[in-house]
Amino acid sequence: MLSILFVEDDDTIAMGVEYSLKQDGFQVSLAHRLDEARDLLKRQPFDLVLLDLGLPDGSGYALCKEIRAAGDTPIIILSARDEEASIVLGLDLGADEYITKPFRLRELISRMKAVLRRGATGAIEASDRTLTCGDVTVVAQQAKVYKNGREVPLTALEYRLLLTLFANQGRVLSRGQILAQIWEVDGDFVNDNTITVYIKRLREKLEDDPQNPALIKTVRGLGYQAGD
Ligand code: CA
Repeated sequence: MLSILFVEDDDTIAMGVEYSLKQDGFQVSLAHRLDEARDLLKRQPFDLVLLDLGLPDGSGYALCKEIRAAGDTPIIILSARDEEASIVLGLDLGADEYITKPFRLRELISRMKAVLRRGATGAIEASDRTLTCGDVTVVAQQAKVYKNGREVPLTALEYRLLLTLFANQGRVLSRGQILAQIWEVDGDFVNDNTITVYIKRLREKLEDDPQNPALIKTVRGLGYQAGD
């Protein structure tokens, strides 16, 4: 059974989510404060951490950083803060996903499963394809990305996004089409800022000039396109 640490000080949310996760076969440990969460983390390993940001004894960001420094346990931040800066900070501190409140329970659970699946296999799709666009190559079998022959480390979600764009080279993908690939749920659920953040991060890692992207282009009003 997969064990989940849920750090959340709002009892209504905590109890609702705990109930649903248990129905779905997860084992759930609840912490209402950072110090409780730290105690639980010392006592047992968890398969995934769901983390609120505003907690009575401090910020969830601090715990996110600590968990990431200690290992690669998947972290999903659940927060009412939906500004791009908050999302970027959470991802920079090592969170795998950032879900804004209010969220739907089905959405949360499918995204948890997606994160756990990625963590389990290390590769998104079993594929022996090698996809090249410009000076960037995705070797799907190894789940690795190279620019000019040098490996570029990507997070699981960045990799998934790049793979989706490269597999559809020359086609404009709408945000909805991209989100459906990334989260495997109806794109309607997802905060639009999230995809903007991921595209930006991919450009920063892969483009020669992230301000004038040549690899991943924005097609105004339509979506994004890799290649010509
Ligand atoms: Ca809170």
